[in-house]
Amino acid sequence: MEQVDCVVIGAGVLGLAVARALAQAGREVVILECERAIGTGTSSRNSEVIHAGIYYPPGSAKARLCLEGRRMLYAFCETHGVEHRRCGKLIVATEKAQLADLEAIHRNAAACGVDDLQWLDRGGVARLEPALAAHAALLSPSTGIIDSHGLMLALQGDAEKAGAVLAFHARVTQGRVESNGIALEVVTDGEPAWLHANAVVNSAGLYAVDVARTITGLTVERIPQRYFAKRSYFSCTGRAPFSHLVYPVPEPGGLGVHLTLDLGGQVRFGPNVEWIDAIDYTVDPHDGDAFYAAVRRYWPDLDDGALQPGYAGVRPKIAGPGEPAADFRIDGPAVHGVPGLINLFGIESPGLTASLAIAARVMKLL
Ligand SMILES: Cc1cc2nc3c(=O)[nH]c(=O)nc-3n(C[C@H](O)[C@H](O)[C@H](O)COP(=O)(O)OP(=O)(O)OC[C@H]3O[C@@H](n4cnc5c(N)ncnc54)[C@H](O)[C@@H]3O)c2cc1C
Repeated sequence: MEQVDCVVIGAGVLGLAVARALAQAGREVVILECERAIGTGTSSRNSEVIHAGIYYPPGSAKARLCLEGRRMLYAFCETHGVEHRRCGKLIVATEKAQLADLEAIHRNAAACGVDDLQWLDRGGVARLEPALAAHAALLSPSTGIIDSHGLMLALQGDAEKAGAVLAFHARVTQGRVESNGIALEVVTDGEPAWLHANAVVNSAGLYAVDVARTITGLTVERIPQRYFAKRSYFSCTGRAPFSHLVYPVPEPGGLGVHLTLDLGGQVRFGPNVEWIDAIDYTVDPHDGDAFYAAVRRYWPDLDDGALQPGYAGVRPKIAGPGEPAADFRIDGPAVHGVPGLINLFGIESPGLTASLAIAARVMKLL
């Protein structure tokens, strides 16, 4: 059986960030990716927003890692030339009754350590974004947007420079806990082979729970249930008159249909939420009607026919419909008792923002 020091399963933003950190610490690293390229999963099907860390429960892993990760990510973008823009975001109250919601968001953000939110009255909003219909808003100046693929290429570059090896078409199909590490079966181009590693980081994204369940010797009770929540986006033809991201006050189960910009200035709206059993990235054009209604609450001038089905992404949830949102789980030996194994479960939003901080946390656990 071939022997390697560390295996990272999955070359999404998390696997690449972890592999970079391990390789830069002098460890031998092999990244196993079942697809033929990096970042073909959730890491290239998201809003590409660098989140400030406003909405999460104070003290949660999401809150702490988002804040820490955001600072690390802006610094990384600067030093590595990753395209990004600190464009800021407005959370808008479209009616007076929502002011209490904005106040609650402001308090929560402060409790999470986000201390730069600014109140804008109707006039203040109009000065920043004249096309917006809003009674009042909170401005988050530290929210931004990022080229997520550029980020992953930069992480891959650093990891490979430090000696990490990336294997494509390499699918982990099962594993087994051994006295001195973990053995993994890897199917490469249809050929199975076993690999023994001292440390394994399971960052298989949507399939991290499934991969963990194939590892003999890992207690099943320590592995969460997994659920898929599909999120669809609509793009907007023409140039929309906005320079900030625009979010309504959140609704149960999500942040509401919001307006995000890409680095080319194109606007997209989304996402909506649909619980699914199997991965499916098609966007239903019939969802458009609900998008028009939601967007026109804050942008009444949205033209008929302006929205087109865009793309969809799927969140790796570990809490089901109607359950309270789960926190990130970075499960190390203290949780499951297997030395050298780290499982990353439920790394949904703000996983992109938090990626470098999560990698740092994994390093501590190993
Ligand atoms: C709709 C949506 C919007 C989001 N918006 C934002 C946002 O604006 N800002 C933000 O911070 N976060 C956002 N997120 C969250 C963020 O995108 C994710 O947290 C992050 O991309 C997860 O990265 P990952 O590496 O864990 O997963 P992935 O990118 O899915 O990578 C996992 C990799 O593992 C590989 N793999 C799977 N199984 C195996 C196997 N058995 N063997 C080998 N390889 C395997 C897959 O092919 C894949 O490449 C959003 C998520 C969604 C769904």
